[in-house]
Amino acid sequence: MYNVMSPKAEEFISDEEIKECLKYAEENKNNRELIEGILEKARDMKGVSHKEALVLLDCELEDLNDEIYKLAREIKQEFYGNRIVMFAPLYLSNYCINGCEYCPYHVKNRTIKRKKLSQEEIREEVIALQDMGHKRLALEAGEDPKNNPIEYIIDCINTIYSIHHKNGDIRRVNVNIAATTVEEYRMLKDAGIGTYILFQETYNKESYEKLHPSGPKSDYAYHTEAMDRAMDGGIDDVGLGVLFGLNNYRYDFTGIIMHAEHLEAYKGVGPHTISVPRLRKAEDIDPEVFDNGISDEMFQKIVACIRIAVPYTGMIISTRESKECREKVLELGISQISGASRTSVGGYAEPEPEEENTEQFDVNDNRTLDEVVKWLMEGGYVPSFCTACYRAGRTGDRFMSLLKSKQIVNCCHPNALMTLKEYLEDYASPETKAIGEELIKKELEVITNPKVKEKAREYIENIHEGQRDFRF
Ligand code: SAM
Repeated sequence: MYNVMSPKAEEFISDEEIKECLKYAEENKNNRELIEGILEKARDMKGVSHKEALVLLDCELEDLNDEIYKLAREIKQEFYGNRIVMFAPLYLSNYCINGCEYCPYHVKNRTIKRKKLSQEEIREEVIALQDMGHKRLALEAGEDPKNNPIEYIIDCINTIYSIHHKNGDIRRVNVNIAATTVEEYRMLKDAGIGTYILFQETYNKESYEKLHPSGPKSDYAYHTEAMDRAMDGGIDDVGLGVLFGLNNYRYDFTGIIMHAEHLEAYKGVGPHTISVPRLRKAEDIDPEVFDNGISDEMFQKIVACIRIAVPYTGMIISTRESKECREKVLELGISQISGASRTSVGGYAEPEPEEENTEQFDVNDNRTLDEVVKWLMEGGYVPSFCTACYRAGRTGDRFMSLLKSKQIVNCCHPNALMTLKEYLEDYASPETKAIGEELIKKELEVITNPKVKEKAREYIENIHEGQRDFRF
């Protein structure tokens, strides 16, 4: 039994404890013996504490940094193999009553065009996304109880799940909307969402309050305790994130690991995913103003150290990052990426006219989904369109046990290959298809259970007969 009375935000994200960790890591960044000891513990692949993880992040000893990267690669390979899960964001509405200083949807922005998709427009967007080959979406919306109430979000989810165009369907809808009540989280759960995602932006209360001067999001405790309420509402896959560039990265790195530890301790299961977005230029936003930008090298180290600290948590990278940057972090720990994203409200069915800019931020990777899929396969990865887990009830601790028992190779791997085959058959260019067919043949051999291997092979060979969506 887990303690249902979770501590309050300022207890599980203790400012005093984080400041102590910052001092400790600074003092020990060249302490060979200590760092070697932490690495030794980390090699068990069961994670390390927030304090230990920060020492690794701060480590200045070159040979030990090489060890950190090596271990991150090994953990990634051990738990996630070479599969990369694909998704796309879908922006429903940019109406927002919050005052977030870094987001162009903020309430005082009078120049951005406000837009909210109708159910008919959602149909058009979803058909366009299905025609690219997407099966998994992340819904995004500003916070505005009048324009985007929970009933609107639920209608959108129902519409999305109801559309089956040619062989296409959206099989998993993740949701990234503002912090809300247990009752509303329960409504999302009942509508069949996958992961509930909410970025903390920063764990530093003082910075948080400056960055969120007005609107419901200005309440630090309400925002920070959102994941506890989501879990109380029955959602057991939750996704954390901080927006790097807003505040000191060492503080927020420590905070996000503490948050993961809190969920594991009080809810019995850690976060399903951690996202690592970096602040981008947007309509009336200049990232330079925030003065906390991090280099690509530090960004890579953050990914590696999160991978080591919480091996059981998937990691997500978006098109905020360039192709080159995405390539580097894929091997260090990323397990999900978006492709061909639009951050405007609408824009998949018809590109947005220039004068109608509704975008949340500029994307850095503008490739088509086919180009991303081909690039991944050429790099030795298996792009996966799998959405099986939550539909088969493998969420929360049940997914974690699958991961911990290393049975993913007989579950995720065949599912990845079968959904990749669906993609190749229905949507890929001839060149991508040729590369994919060869890859699938090779990767089928990785499956260790002979019955599973046979079943997957059978599905893959007979797919042209029209069957879709078989899964383990
Ligand atoms: N409105 C919801 C909320 O407040 O949590 C969530 C949706 S918001 C569309 C998704 C995320 O985009 C935010 O949590 C924030 O981290 C990120 N974001 C906002 N402005 C950004 C910018 N200029 N560059 C990069 N990411 C940004």
